[in-house]
Amino acid sequence: ERKQLHRLRREPTRTLDGIDIKLYANAESRDDVAEAHALGTAGVGLYRTEFLFLQRSELPTEEEQFRAYRDVVLGMTGRSVTIRTLDLGADKADRTGLALRDEPNPALGLRGVRLSLARDGLLETQLRALLRASGYGPLRILVPMVSSREEIKRVRALLDRVAADLRREGHEIADQVPLGAMIEVPAAAIALPSFIGAIDFLSIGTNDLVQYLLAADRNNEALGELYTPLHPAVLRLIRDVIRLARARGKSVAVCGEMAGDPSFAPLLLALGLEEFSLHPATLLELRRAIRGLDLSTLRARAPALLRAGDRQGIEDWLRKAGAAS
Ligand code: PEP
Ligand code: MG
Repeated sequence: ERKQLHRLRREPTRTLDGIDIKLYANAESRDDVAEAHALGTAGVGLYRTEFLFLQRSELPTEEEQFRAYRDVVLGMTGRSVTIRTLDLGADKADRTGLALRDEPNPALGLRGVRLSLARDGLLETQLRALLRASGYGPLRILVPMVSSREEIKRVRALLDRVAADLRREGHEIADQVPLGAMIEVPAAAIALPSFIGAIDFLSIGTNDLVQYLLAADRNNEALGELYTPLHPAVLRLIRDVIRLARARGKSVAVCGEMAGDPSFAPLLLALGLEEFSLHPATLLELRRAIRGLDLSTLRARAPALLRAGDRQGIEDWLRKAGAAS
């Protein structure tokens, strides 16, 4: 069983009807990157940069960040790498003094791109390091907690200025560094038509999207099954985001925990998803699950999935989808 799974390292992630699905890795360390590479990942889909800022009282320098990002790019040997700008907030054990302390409601507070834009030089230093790393292989920049077009425009303007500065200083950076938004605040998902033209790609962060959409704290165990992606509102919003992204020719992945759970694969495939980003620990299991599924059958069943009125109905749909293939 384990050996068979191990063999899948070199196999494609291809559905029964021959469609290739991309599996990217969520990573935050050198080990994650190496492990994902060995498993035949399509690239890094979400590199969280928070760890560079935690457990220390001084901010990482541009040089230190550059080396860390460059190593991820080199570690992927030409495969695509998506690095997320800092998603720090009062919920993380921050000793740098960047985040506010004792925010009444950290999940709704100054975090992610809001914090990056609020602190002088913070985003500029990170973008400089990222652009410098782009000279070593394909790199994309992903912005967390976006809730409006304004934020994307501000990041884009800074990115353009920083790129011009670096070129003037003689650094070799990529001609194009795609800029993407995490879709994890419901407002961003709903208003997507108004700013999809301003971004190059998107990644759906279901951990936060579910939390904000259902008003259910992702870390509060007392809520039990209230925190779940198996809710009609969640499925419909994910479907809308994927549909719009595909219609506009922008790549779209799901990078929340939901993507790493093989039992949800039929559902995400039915909703149109072709890119998953997940922790390497379940990458092969997901590959095995996808290789046993027929995409056209699942797509044909999407209307029934979207008609399911509650968790029970969605679970019934999933059970049938599993039985059919
Ligand atoms: C998410 O919100 O789904 C996500 C991938 O980001 P994080 O878990 O780091 O908030
Ligand atoms: Mg998130």
